[in-house]
Amino acid sequence: PVPVLAVVGRPNVGKSTLVNRILGRREAVVEDVPGVTRDRVPYDASWGGRRFTVVDTGGWEPDAEGMAARVAAQAELAIDAADAVLLVVDARVGAQDTDDAVVRVLRRSGKPVVLAANKVDDQRTEADAAGLWSLGLGEPHPVSALHGRGSGDLLDAVLAAL
Ligand code: GDP
Ligand code: MG
Repeated sequence: PVPVLAVVGRPNVGKSTLVNRILGRREAVVEDVPGVTRDRVPYDASWGGRRFTVVDTGGWEPDAEGMAARVAAQAELAIDAADAVLLVVDARVGAQDTDDAVVRVLRRSGKPVVLAANKVDDQRTEADAAGLWSLGLGEPHPVSALHGRGSGDLLDAVLAAL
């Protein structure tokens, strides 16, 4: 069976952009407006000759009140069905309460987690990525889903986790 990678995180952190980067094609829908991705969309991916399924998540309304709960619920369903999880955080914004909610779900799941510190478009932003050690999920992998910076190293870490 082909292993499954779930991509989770808050709206607008760049999950769908990162999924497209992983796929090497623009298939997942990217929007400036949060909440565009439908619930749990699977795509066929491969890296280093290994095939896997990457599942983009999203679909909640940008309702600040219920967002933490919804992100956690979405993530939980995707995580349940996954062999490994890619948690995407916007390194420029840093960890938020909703990230903590997802981290709690990840801990409970016992699944291997790779932490992507996204939107590290240049050397200057690398320091922001280091701040994400505070999530307690190990090494944050700095990446720019938009430009591709760091995506090879991130995918190597993903394959090691799958
Ligand atoms: P999602 O809601 O987590 O799926 O986020 P999207 O992939 O839809 O991206 C949300 C916004 O962030 C879009 O405007 C993207 O172009 C932008 N974005 C995504 N990745 C990056 C990145 O690495 N660098 C920068 N500067 N912007 C990014
Ligand atoms: Mg999306």
